[in-house]
Amino acid sequence: MQKDVLDTVERLKEEMKDSLMEMIAIPAIGPDNDGDGETKRAEFIMEHIKDFGFDSVERYDAEDDRVPSGIRPNIVATKKGKTDRNVLIIAHIDIVPEGDLDLWDTDPYKPVFKDGKIYGRGSEDNGQEVIAALYAAKALTLSGITPKYNLKVILVSDEETGSKYGVKHIVDEGLVSQNDIVIVPDHSQERGKKIETAEKSGLWVKIVVHGKQGHGAAPGSAINSNRIMARYQAEVDALLHEGFTLENPLFAPPVSTFEPTKREKNVPNVNTIPGKEVQYFDCRVLPEVPLSEVKSVFEDTAEDISLDTGADIEVVYLVDKKSPPGTPEDAEVVLKLKSAIKSVTGIDAEVCGIGGGTVAAHFRQKGIPAAVWATNDCVPHQPNEYAVLDYIVTDCKVFVSLVTED
Ligand SMILES: [Zn+2]
Repeated sequence: MQKDVLDTVERLKEEMKDSLMEMIAIPAIGPDNDGDGETKRAEFIMEHIKDFGFDSVERYDAEDDRVPSGIRPNIVATKKGKTDRNVLIIAHIDIVPEGDLDLWDTDPYKPVFKDGKIYGRGSEDNGQEVIAALYAAKALTLSGITPKYNLKVILVSDEETGSKYGVKHIVDEGLVSQNDIVIVPDHSQERGKKIETAEKSGLWVKIVVHGKQGHGAAPGSAINSNRIMARYQAEVDALLHEGFTLENPLFAPPVSTFEPTKREKNVPNVNTIPGKEVQYFDCRVLPEVPLSEVKSVFEDTAEDISLDTGADIEVVYLVDKKSPPGTPEDAEVVLKLKSAIKSVTGIDAEVCGIGGGTVAAHFRQKGIPAAVWATNDCVPHQPNEYAVLDYIVTDCKVFVSLVTED
C-alpha cells in the first residue's frame, strides 16, 4: 500500500514543480518588510488545493490593518485519518524581500527551472515544504488511502517577522495540543541527516558609552568613549569566554557563543574625540545556562568601568529570549520522523541543536514537543535562492510515511 502512494508522489513531481513556480510568482512579504502581506498567495493556495481531497480547509486569519486585505491568512487543511491523532506539518507562506537585485542572475519572482532546481525568492524558504506537505495529501487521495493519522497541513503567515500573526495566533487559538505530532520543516542540516530538537537562548545586547566629546589635540578635557568601548569589549569578551565554558554536544559549536558585531558610526572626522560610542553583541547561550548570569557580566563590567572612567555606560537588551527545554530524543515525534526518513531515504537521522531560532520554540514553550527537519541545501534569504525538485519529492514522501506508518 505504501509503495503505491510513494509511486504516486513520484508521478506528481512535475505538477509539484509547476505549482511551486506559480506560487513563487505571487510574492508574500509582511508589512514589517514593507510588503502587502500573504493574502493573494493564500487565495492561490486555497483555489489550488480544491481537488486535493482534504476533508476540511479552514482559515484562522489574524487581523492586521497594515496590509490592504486587513488580514494575515493562516490555512489549516486536514486530511482525516483512521485515528484521532494528528500529525501537524507547519510551513510558512511568507517570504523575505529579494534584497539586492544585482546579486540575482534571474528575476526572483519569475521562477526558472534549471538543472533540477527551481530558482526564485521563497523557493526553499519555505515554498518547497508548503508544496511537499500539500501534495502528501493529494498523493494519499489519488491512491485511495486513508492515512493512520490525521494529516494537518498548517500554512502560516508572518514567520519571517516574529510570528505574532502566524504561529502564535494559531497556538493562541488552541489549534495545537500536547498530543499532536508537530513537524516544522523549516531548517535543514546536512541535507536531512539532522533533526533539530533544541535551540540556544538568544541575547542581543546594545552597549552605549556616553563620554565627553573633545578635540583630538586636547584629550585632557574629553572622556574618550571609543577607548572606553574598546576596553569594555575586551573585558566583557574575556569574562564571557572564561566564565561560560559548559559544553553540550547536541549543538555545533557545543558551547555558548558571544560575538561583538555591529558598531555604529561615530564622529565624521579624525581630529574629534567621540563622546558617544555604540556597540552590539550577539550571544547564543546554551539552554542550561541562566541568561541572568550572562547579563550580570555585561552589567557589572559596565558599572566597574563607569566608576573608573567617569563615562556613563548603558546596557540595553534588544533580544532577551530564553529558549524552552528541547524536545527529548525519545519523543514520539523524533522517533516517528527518524523512522519515516529511514524508510524513504535510508538515512539514519540524528538529533541536533541550533544557535538560531525557529517557530518550534513557540510549541516547546507550551510543552508541545516539536521537531524541525527538512531536506535542502540551506540557501534561505540568499540571492539566487533555489529549491531542489528531488528534495521536494523526498520530503513529500517522508510526510506521507509519517501519517501512514505506525
Ligand atoms: Zn523559513
